[in-house]
Amino acid sequence: MSKQHTLRPGMSIVVASHNEGKVREIRALLEPFGLSTVSAAELSLPVPDETEHSFAGNARLKALPAAKAADMPALSDDSGIEIFALDGQPGIYAANWAEDEHGNRDFMRAMQRVHTELGDSEDRGARFVCALCLAWPDGTSTVYEGDVHGHIVWPPRGDRGFGYDPIFQRVGDAETFAEIDPDEKHAISHRADAFAKFLADQFPDGQ
Ligand code: IMP
Repeated sequence: MSKQHTLRPGMSIVVASHNEGKVREIRALLEPFGLSTVSAAELSLPVPDETEHSFAGNARLKALPAAKAADMPALSDDSGIEIFALDGQPGIYAANWAEDEHGNRDFMRAMQRVHTELGDSEDRGARFVCALCLAWPDGTSTVYEGDVHGHIVWPPRGDRGFGYDPIFQRVGDAETFAEIDPDEKHAISHRADAFAKFLADQFPDGQ
């Protein structure tokens, strides 16, 4: 990787997401490394259509246009939840499962659908997946993927997270992702796993 493709403290980076929960989490992860962040919404960038069929493909679709439009490096996240008994659904369509006929998102609706589709299935296994894409204005990009395994609980519990957090309990934990301290979630989540790979590549000396 050439020198111009390395992040350094003091640089500005676009958080290429319109999801407030993700922007908050990604900012909290980046700021300790001296990067100042600006979100896609703050730059009034358009919301790209997620037309790819993988987390990595959709992450690239979000980060590359943002990097070009802002003339800055951009970091995007495409993530979702794969439920094993549902053949990996909702997967990359995790956000779509929350949408009503008017396109408004309500995650209670998405969680209820998971519960209904699982029925009395004994297999409650699931994983959150995260693909982070770091893109540069010249069109180059790198994708880092992470995951966290757990199972689906019902009814939903906790109000500290977002999306499917209230029905996801990590393997070995007694609380859902919406009950644990957000800092703890940041340390163990699929995003943290992908982020650790991003940091090892971009900040190999830990700074
Ligand atoms: P997208 O990546 O913007 O297409 O959205 C993925 C969707 O997956 C989010 O809107 C959430 O519903 C869900 N999701 C991704 N990461 C998390 C998480 O950490 N907690 C809960 N839900 C998540």
